[in-house]
Amino acid sequence: MAGCLFCEIVARRSSADIEYEDDEILAFRDIYPKAPVHLLIVPKRHIESVLTLAPDDAPLMGRLLLAARRIGEERGFGERGYRLGINCGPEGGQDVYHLHVHFLAGRKDARKVERR
Ligand code: AMP
Ligand code: ZN
Repeated sequence: MAGCLFCEIVARRSSADIEYEDDEILAFRDIYPKAPVHLLIVPKRHIESVLTLAPDDAPLMGRLLLAARRIGEERGFGERGYRLGINCGPEGGQDVYHLHVHFLAGRKDARKVERR
């Protein structure tokens, strides 16, 4: 979508440190990390927000979570664990309106560091 920061990253018109990619999903490092490992997992297709999810988006949302699981296992967090977060809309703290899952890992209190 024109003017969407994460669509620009998906299209490789903006740079990012890409850590995972498949047909439908891209994961890259958050530019302002809030944990030792802080990735954003995004669908390549532009979906604005959980607030505008459609029933047809259900399989893709499931694949986002499975990508998070795979990323966690590949980086040694399969048992240690990590935090996944989705900010939804203005009062949910969403700043970028291309749906994304925050993947935070590498610190026992990763749960706490994302709170603002
Ligand atoms: P949210 O507040 O949930 O919409 O999260 C947006 C996230 O995108 C924030 O954690 C930002 O640090 C991150 N961010 C903003 N611009 C970029 C960028 N160009 N590359 C990577 N991450 C970004
Ligand atoms: Zn987008």
